[in-house]
Amino acid sequence: MALIVQKYGGTSVGSPDRIKNLARRVARFKALGHQIVVVVSAMSGETNRLISLAKEIMPEPDPRELDVMVATGEQVTIGLTAMALMELGLKAKSYTGSQVRIVTDNAHTKARILSIDEERIRADLDAGYVVVVAGFQGVDESGNITTLGRGGSDTTGVALAAALKADECQIYTDVDGVYTTDPRVVPEARRLKSITFEEMLELASQGSKVLQIRSVEFAGKYKVKLRVLSSFEEDGEGTLITFEDPENKDSNMEQPIISGIAFNRDEAKIMVLGVPDKPGIAYQILGPIADAKIDVDMIIQNMGADGTTDFTFTVHKNDMAKALGILNQVQAHIGAREIRGDDKIAKVSIVGVGMRSHVGIASQMFRTLAEEGINIQMISTSEIKIAVVIDEKYMELAVRVLHKAFELEEA
Ligand code: ADP
Ligand code: ASP
Ligand code: MG
Repeated sequence: MALIVQKYGGTSVGSPDRIKNLARRVARFKALGHQIVVVVSAMSGETNRLISLAKEIMPEPDPRELDVMVATGEQVTIGLTAMALMELGLKAKSYTGSQVRIVTDNAHTKARILSIDEERIRADLDAGYVVVVAGFQGVDESGNITTLGRGGSDTTGVALAAALKADECQIYTDVDGVYTTDPRVVPEARRLKSITFEEMLELASQGSKVLQIRSVEFAGKYKVKLRVLSSFEEDGEGTLITFEDPENKDSNMEQPIISGIAFNRDEAKIMVLGVPDKPGIAYQILGPIADAKIDVDMIIQNMGADGTTDFTFTVHKNDMAKALGILNQVQAHIGAREIRGDDKIAKVSIVGVGMRSHVGIASQMFRTLAEEGINIQMISTSEIKIAVVIDEKYMELAVRVLHKAFELEEA
């Protein structure tokens, strides 16, 4: 007997038939004697619909009130899912995030899970219930409803699996695993049987939305056995997220150099041009940005010439106007010649633990892009990743040619 947490995404609960299908799968697992916790997202499109509705009333929705209404999407699916399970003769009970005390901080719309009181769930499981928990939502210490950021149901699933010390966390979605890149952009993309936790973390942080990054962080911290699977197939092994054995570094040798390619159209570039090249300038630019709680991703400062330098960084597209507003206010104080924003950019990243033991990967990436006439605007690297910012109109082309150049379509 195992304890399994199964998370189902929006498409997998997108209609009554799909919910019934989910219930049949859970029934099969129950019949094998397993204890099952089900985490569900809102029906596909529902969270977007709720956000647009809010914006019709308040263009910049109040975060606390937005969380109150957006969390209703998942409340609908937990009830429907429990009913579908009952219709199959199973004992089932649904809970919202606050009912099972998924306690978060108070950062509305992007809250972090602090603790989960798993006792109630455990008691229900022991009494033979399938427990259905709303993904994406929690409650802060003062009782306010919070949400965990887009894609946050993945994190609910993994956090519950960690709290319950589940044997496995299964993420059921509309693809049958983690691919070398998004199969909707590159049809030749190939499913990976396994991927290391570190690679998955980089892919998620660089924009692969198949798993929310925080879910991967949780899996790493608590060593949760995590698998991505299709909810549309009866069986299939999906993709297992594995943990590298530090004792066995040689296992890296068998890894392909590049495991996957991620891309992201959500960032904007901000250029602060002609600033005095003197100590403290980076802080003067980024200090006010951080004070406004705007996340910064890539940062580049040019070599100074003639006593001045250029400073470029990226933020989420939604934060570009705010960031420009802040910098315009401090422009005179910083002594910048010009401040510019560009939201027509995309970031493309190649990821692989094999990079550690191979040279020339960056030059191969840059050559491939150059051969297509794609200009690189910014570059950033980590031990297992190379990311470039390019004009957004070349994003899909870049992903396709890199996929081919690194022979990712071949097994
Ligand atoms: P869910 O609603 O089930 O949470 P998501 O839409 O959040 O599903 O995530 C699944 C989607 O992630 C897939 O449909 C696919 O388009 C996209 N995706 C992006 N990168 C990858 C990748 N490397 N492997 C698989 N899917 C990917
Ligand atoms: N329903 C939420 C969203 O659309 C959470 C999730 O799907 O994971 O972002
Ligand atoms: Mg998702």
